[in-house]
Amino acid sequence: MPYVYDFDHAHDRPPRELKELLGGKGANLAEMTSVLDLPVPPGFTVSTDACRACLKGGWPEGLTEEVAEHLATLESRMGKRLGDPSDPLLVSVRSGAASSMPGMMDTVLNLGLNEHSVEGLAKQTDDEAFAQDSYRRFLDLYRDVVLGDDEDAEVPQDPHEQLRQAIEAVFRSWTGPRAVAYRTREHIPHDLGTAVNVQAMVFGNRDDRSGTGVGFTRDPATGAQGVYGDFLVNAQGEDVVAGTRITKPLSALEEEFPDVYAELMDIFERLERHYRDMLDTEFTIEQGKLWMLQTRVGKRTGAAALKQAVAMTTDPGIELTHEEALLRVSGDNLDQVLHPQFAPGDHEIVATGLPASPGAAVGKAQFTADAAVTASRHGDKVILVRSETSPDDVHGLEVAEGVLTSKGGLVSHAAVVARGWGKPAVVGAEAVEIEGSSFTAGGVAVQEGDVISIDGTTGEVAVGEVELAEGEHPPEFEVLLGWADEARGDRLGVWANADTAHDAAQAREYGAEGIGLCRTEHMFLGDRLPLIQRLILADGDEEERPALAELGDVQREDFEAILEAMDGLPVTVRLLDPPLHEFLPDLEELIVAEAKGELDEGGHRLLDAARHWQETNPMLGTRGVRLAVVKDGLYRMQVKALMEAAVERARAGGSPIVEVMIPLVVSREELALARGWVEEEVEAVRGEAGVSLEVKIGTMIETPRAALLAEEIAEAADFFSFGTNDLTQMTYGFSRDDIEGRLMAPYLEQGLLARDPFETLDLAGVGELVRLGVERGRVTKPDLKVGVCGEHGGDPESIDAFFEAGVDYVSCSPFRVPVARLAGAQAVVRRRAA
Ligand code: ADP
Ligand code: MG
Ligand code: MG
Repeated sequence: MPYVYDFDHAHDRPPRELKELLGGKGANLAEMTSVLDLPVPPGFTVSTDACRACLKGGWPEGLTEEVAEHLATLESRMGKRLGDPSDPLLVSVRSGAASSMPGMMDTVLNLGLNEHSVEGLAKQTDDEAFAQDSYRRFLDLYRDVVLGDDEDAEVPQDPHEQLRQAIEAVFRSWTGPRAVAYRTREHIPHDLGTAVNVQAMVFGNRDDRSGTGVGFTRDPATGAQGVYGDFLVNAQGEDVVAGTRITKPLSALEEEFPDVYAELMDIFERLERHYRDMLDTEFTIEQGKLWMLQTRVGKRTGAAALKQAVAMTTDPGIELTHEEALLRVSGDNLDQVLHPQFAPGDHEIVATGLPASPGAAVGKAQFTADAAVTASRHGDKVILVRSETSPDDVHGLEVAEGVLTSKGGLVSHAAVVARGWGKPAVVGAEAVEIEGSSFTAGGVAVQEGDVISIDGTTGEVAVGEVELAEGEHPPEFEVLLGWADEARGDRLGVWANADTAHDAAQAREYGAEGIGLCRTEHMFLGDRLPLIQRLILADGDEEERPALAELGDVQREDFEAILEAMDGLPVTVRLLDPPLHEFLPDLEELIVAEAKGELDEGGHRLLDAARHWQETNPMLGTRGVRLAVVKDGLYRMQVKALMEAAVERARAGGSPIVEVMIPLVVSREELALARGWVEEEVEAVRGEAGVSLEVKIGTMIETPRAALLAEEIAEAADFFSFGTNDLTQMTYGFSRDDIEGRLMAPYLEQGLLARDPFETLDLAGVGELVRLGVERGRVTKPDLKVGVCGEHGGDPESIDAFFEAGVDYVSCSPFRVPVARLAGAQAVVRRRAA
């Protein structure tokens, strides 16, 4: 296999598909050259194979000769030679990995100049200033990009040496800390390597009939039809993006260079038709002649992605099918239009950091976790501002509306925790200079308690209160979701996790087709706490019965409301899951109160109970079905209340569909026992009411043992629902609450974990248990219905894996339902295509 390919090399596949070999930039340069026949300065690409070989065993054998050969071809095409003192060929050396990586090295322009050839260039062009400008740019870039920190190193005079060093520097930049950090947070494999493009220079800095620019074939911010971009007259390369000179909009190009503009518009149209997508381009004009230097499918905002995907289905030159349009949008795109954002208008943005967790928030700046907690106790909304956060700040993060840090990246502690909790976060906002309890940014000083606003979707930070716009759905939102539902059909259901009638109604509005997880524990909190405490404190059946009856009454009302909100759709009620101590006051506080003599008789009973139920590992202790084994009255009460609610609904003309789910099961015997209680209670209520109500009884699969023994467990189950939060926790032996705050960031940064397994299903471990569980459960019951109700049920990549594993539905939080509908459709479409 050769290491080097000319841009017009005849590949057996369209070069744009060869990104892994040629890098994104090289693949598209080859496509523009050889397939589209666009005006691209000639050149060649040194492949990622060469990079990998170089990183493994040093400069690859034969590469020098190959580069020399292709350089000779380039020289004869251009009629100039590299290093020719009278008329030098100049080239750019451009890095380009398979996926674009801003953390990588930049590009060296005007390579081939030295003290002699700069004079030749001046003479040839009859323009000393231009030649010197080009040389200065070359030296700056070379020092910066190739020599880096080595202060003693000098720029070689020999252009062939320059070329070889520059290529090698690009290769090495692959393993540089910036690049590694970028790949880690973007989940790009570390072993791909980068390609290097060597391309004849064209000069936008030649004179006033020259210039350089960037253009999008549509507006990447709004998605609107019509080109969008900037250009600069008499400028080279990075001048446009560097922000050092004020650029002009592309519309000005139409006036100043009408012919070039017309040609560019024509090229944009051809590019769009060819790629069937929005493109981002770089171009240069040299003395009135247009050259294309780069193109790629353009990055865009969520709103633009939705708008363009829909528009391109009816664009005569593109005609995306509905299924293709679905694959063009991502969960993140939908998410972006769902979260609140800064309302349009003039906000004074004082800093822009990394958009670490979507959504916008407004609050008073607090600079320590303790101060945040105190302020929030006083009823303030708080934005926690830290240089970076650590596990010691978690209590501050908890109460904050959002978090802003001046350091750290997208997998820093603050970013990980905020994403986990769904709080807006802007991290690594370097312009924010924190000193004690104040910061300055963009020349504005902010003191503790001053109001600031952050937008975690864009990374923007503003001083004062910015008005927030509720995530407003553009019309394309519904259109795409409609197509998604069509594509998904009944192959993968999307249900929601909802504990209240309000959440259920919301989920339904978002398109949920059922409730996959209705947790019942919140029904015992708030003003119901004394009721469950009475039950816990009850001494024997006599005392338990009235306490249970009262709990049953309030639960029945809750269930009725939920069944009404979901009328006609299945509601899966999970019987009580948490350990009992969660319903008791904190043991340590009780002990302190006792020492101070502040406990009355009731207090002492609570203290005894708290001592009794205290456990070393409560998440692995007496919870779920285990608790019911020692207190079966609880589950019986819950089922009775649920059935009575269903009967009420049926009598009122509704169509309640009830499923009862037993949590934390590890064996067939355990499930069979619990099932017995449920059946008895169902029978009792049904018999009394004389109504026929089908009730399914199933179990959560959330312990590794349950997944492994699914074949047996299925004997006692009408359905399974994978509780992937606990399943992940128990498979890794990671206590989620402790790990997310303390260990997740270092694990991600050091590459010990590729992904946060609580966010995206761990395909290798937990995913295997899911696959096994589905397969084994269906050995016993081929039609066994299987769902997923962990938070992974709302994560697109996890949804794909669940579908692959044969899961029938995923259940996620109500506001993730649209994302799940889309991701489910994409999973179906991808399988169909494969
Ligand atoms: P990046 O990936 O950072 O955009 P590029 O390799 O695209 O880096 O190059 C940086 C800038 O230099 C871009 O504006 C590009 O258009 C310009 N450039 C690259 N190669 C050439 C060339 N052969 N002639 C003129 N300009 C070039
Ligand atoms: Mg650059
Ligand atoms: Mg570029």
